[in-house]
Amino acid sequence: MKRKAVVVVLVIFLCSVFAVTGSAQGSIVSDYPGLKPVVDFVGDEKLSVMDLVGYKAAKNAMDELGFSKGDPNVLALTDAGYIANIGKYSSEGALNGVMMIAGVSRGKGNLVNVHRGCDKPLWFAFFDKETGDCIYLEVNKGNLKSWLDKEAAGTVDLSEFMEVGADALFSKISMENIDPDKLITEEGAKAWNHNFDNKTFGGNEFSIVTISAVWSKGISNEFLRSAELHNHICPGLTSGYFMTQYLRENYPLEEGEQWVVWAVPPWCKDDAFQQVFDCTVGKRGMAVMYVPNSVSEKLASKYQNIAGIYIKMGETGEAKAIVLGWDWEKVCSDCGFARKDLKGFDSHKWWWVRLRSDVMLMDHEPEEYISELMVKNPGNQGSVKVMNAKWMAVGANPLVELGIMPEPETTAAPASRPVSAPTGKTPSIPGLGVIAAIAGAFVYVVKRRKRG
Ligand SMILES: [Zn+2]
Repeated sequence: MKRKAVVVVLVIFLCSVFAVTGSAQGSIVSDYPGLKPVVDFVGDEKLSVMDLVGYKAAKNAMDELGFSKGDPNVLALTDAGYIANIGKYSSEGALNGVMMIAGVSRGKGNLVNVHRGCDKPLWFAFFDKETGDCIYLEVNKGNLKSWLDKEAAGTVDLSEFMEVGADALFSKISMENIDPDKLITEEGAKAWNHNFDNKTFGGNEFSIVTISAVWSKGISNEFLRSAELHNHICPGLTSGYFMTQYLRENYPLEEGEQWVVWAVPPWCKDDAFQQVFDCTVGKRGMAVMYVPNSVSEKLASKYQNIAGIYIKMGETGEAKAIVLGWDWEKVCSDCGFARKDLKGFDSHKWWWVRLRSDVMLMDHEPEEYISELMVKNPGNQGSVKVMNAKWMAVGANPLVELGIMPEPETTAAPASRPVSAPTGKTPSIPGLGVIAAIAGAFVYVVKRRKRG
């Protein structure tokens, strides 16, 4: 009898323990039913403060802008996880909350993960293309860090975090109308310019306004991914995207071939090349060389618009070099502004003309602005590494080697040249020969004077 009683007590005790544990685990969804999609996605055990930050940002935006989950008119932009950090804590978990609550995703093309440096603030923006309204929420680093510290120490109470108000969690919440049809007019841009001065979107105005505008007009996945890496859309990035499309159309890669890009000179376009062709600098798919004014003004007029040298390279080292030009004058005249306005950094002009051309170029074709300045077969180059080390080496000049500009005149004997590559001419070292000759002459004169 006594034993029976003990068993009954034990069973009651165990049942109550399980009941308490069970209700504790399920409590956050029972207290906050709106969290269910996030908890279902990440799992009870894995739910974190960052998931809830994304939840809170999306919830706030939906309340303020008045949209519901999955609204196809809404674009979400954030630098969460790419790669804004809060101190030593990474922020990618916030994407879970944004996706599950606002119903946006990369697959749907309405979640843009804007690239920012790791020490930049964590922010979220939601744009409704139907109304043109945009809300920006920037996280209060100090507040969030205190919660992440508790989470790291295993002492965080997520229900308590759910009670943190938006005013405490976000250091800035601002809403503005960024209707691209208004902002591409000069009057509209002038009226909006104070938002740049006041950093209404935390200094991310150009990123948010330009990406939202082009997205609202219909953007390809390739261009959107390029915009993520570049963190904004400008006519420079558009020129690169157009050139990738031009090369794919006119010089499609055969089996085993790849693109190697020589950014001579580099500008925003080259981020589109790296994204679309995967020709990253680190994988030697891209080499960069600046063309200073002192050099470019000596180029024949045909080459004044040079954008870069694009090498189509086969597995066996066979290469074809295509030199493309980009017509900035035509961009400016088609979009209705003066070229000097691109440098109008003391007024609305700098961003207005960029936004205007971002939107207007979408109605144009790459061929309208791209010219083929030269197509040359430089022979077998061995490998990408050997080719880059020869043509784009310190002191080399691919423009001279390709015959785009004449070899600089020197009175001195040729300076030592880079190690010869397997085939083709070896690049010259313009300038170094002259310097060596002058230095030699100087030493000679000094020695003569000393002797004298
Ligand atoms: Zn740019």
